[in-house]
Amino acid sequence: MTSSTVVDHEIVIVGAGFSGIGFAIALRKAGFDDFVMIDEADGVGGTWHWNTYPGIAVDIPSFSYQYSFEKQRTWSRVYAPGRELKAYAERCVQKYGLRPRIRFGTTIARAEFDDELHLWRLTTSTGDVITARYVVGATGVLTRPKLPEIPGAERFRGTIVHTARWDHDLELRGKRVGIIGTGASAVQVIPEIAPDVASLVVFQRTPIWCLPRPDAPLPQAVRTLMRLPGGQLLTRMLSQAFVEITFPLAAHYYNVLPMVKLGERSGLAHLRQQVRDPAVRAKLTPDYALGCKRPSFSNDYLKTFNRENVLLETDPIQEITATGLRTAGAHHQVDVLIMATGFKVMESGNMPTFDLYGSGGTSLEDWWDTHRLQAYEGVSVPGFPNFFTIIGPYGYNGASYFTLIEMQTTHILRLLRRARRHDSTRVEVTHEANDRYFQEMLNRRGTQVFWQDSCALANSYYFDKNGDVPLKPMSTAEAAWRAAHFDMKDYRFEKVGSPVQRGVESAQLT
Ligand code: NAP
Repeated sequence: MTSSTVVDHEIVIVGAGFSGIGFAIALRKAGFDDFVMIDEADGVGGTWHWNTYPGIAVDIPSFSYQYSFEKQRTWSRVYAPGRELKAYAERCVQKYGLRPRIRFGTTIARAEFDDELHLWRLTTSTGDVITARYVVGATGVLTRPKLPEIPGAERFRGTIVHTARWDHDLELRGKRVGIIGTGASAVQVIPEIAPDVASLVVFQRTPIWCLPRPDAPLPQAVRTLMRLPGGQLLTRMLSQAFVEITFPLAAHYYNVLPMVKLGERSGLAHLRQQVRDPAVRAKLTPDYALGCKRPSFSNDYLKTFNRENVLLETDPIQEITATGLRTAGAHHQVDVLIMATGFKVMESGNMPTFDLYGSGGTSLEDWWDTHRLQAYEGVSVPGFPNFFTIIGPYGYNGASYFTLIEMQTTHILRLLRRARRHDSTRVEVTHEANDRYFQEMLNRRGTQVFWQDSCALANSYYFDKNGDVPLKPMSTAEAAWRAAHFDMKDYRFEKVGSPVQRGVESAQLT
């Protein structure tokens, strides 16, 4: 520590998922050693620790779903199963010596900034207090499982399980099962369990766009290629290009690029090839444009609806009874009810997962309620000094989360290095820089896919309560350039007890 103020740690990272792990590795490499990672789980991996439902796998090619500096040759498939991601997280933690720095089973309930001492005071759910100069929020957004507000759940005599908290003692073989939801989790669970259960009723509110998945066990040729000089780089580059074209470019430049229309054609053809019954096919056909909400990728999901033991129910659920679920036209008896109902993405208490009070005691949630969701480059919010997020509003552009993690890490590390060099103890984005960035994000969204009328029918969690979609409307190349080159004058640097110091020319600092 460079300041005279005593804190428990220079940096607290909240979250030991891939965001927290990636940031911690970069910190160590940059020579910042006084940090601790805190996670409420009893293991690392975040999403891949909590989500262990049958059929779980990554949804973008594994060559892209990994750190650029820690490429793995041993993925079993193009789209690796969840357990391999969890093992990858464990390996990274082991290799970079992070385990002794992680406090497992610890929930941060509250964080308050001390304006006088320039430090954060974090309070855990058991009342312990940890102080730190900087807090890095790495709690993700798909964190808090969401249960549907359907009356009667307390009366149900069978078993209820949420996909994000799977119970591995639960036996589904021969059972009558109901599943609520048809998002990305359901798309993976449904084909996996359908052959084993006596019956499966799928309660669909909004059909999902389901595209073919170019998945396969990794062919020997690719494994050999990855062992050759440059082979890993080549596979990575091809994979990155595929992800870039099919996610960020398709979504943000919808007006000028044809990917969405091509994707819709592919999705409809996939549906025609896979589902025999025209009435079922009609029910599975989305009436909103591809991209309004996150699509899914599966070669098995749609054809599961051809099975004798699978029923697609599209009438709204009226209530959960002691023995099943009632819709307007039927009562479906089930022994097990699977909630594939997603996460509280834009809802209170999720971003971050703890109450955060910045300068002057302002609550971050209240600030966002008043000013709409916004954060400079998705990292910093004015009035919340020394707090940085890995995935804040207008930070993520839709490419691999790993690309995001590395870009935001670059941004934050530039600030920490600058603060260390100048002995600063308070780092805060200026209101002007934040306003400029927010306005730019709003000005650039005209070319995005989200603003078509049909998106109103999608029930998409991309939209917040103001109707904004806080994704970063730009290519990954541009986002990466900005992380490495944003103007340091967009931040104010201050030292305890001394006047405010504006960032000096960025050329001097990088
Ligand atoms: P989700 O996409 O939010 O889907 C939740 C589903 O539950 C939706 O179909 C929703 O219907 C339905 N639902 C919610 N409340 C309901 C109610 N009261 N009655 C009827 N239906 C209800 O959640 P998810 O499938 O868990 O996926 C969340 C995100 O996690 C994904 O978008 C993705 O980013 C990530 N994910 C990734 C992977 C992967 O990479 N392999 C796998 C799984 C999840 P509506 O559509 O009508 O709201």
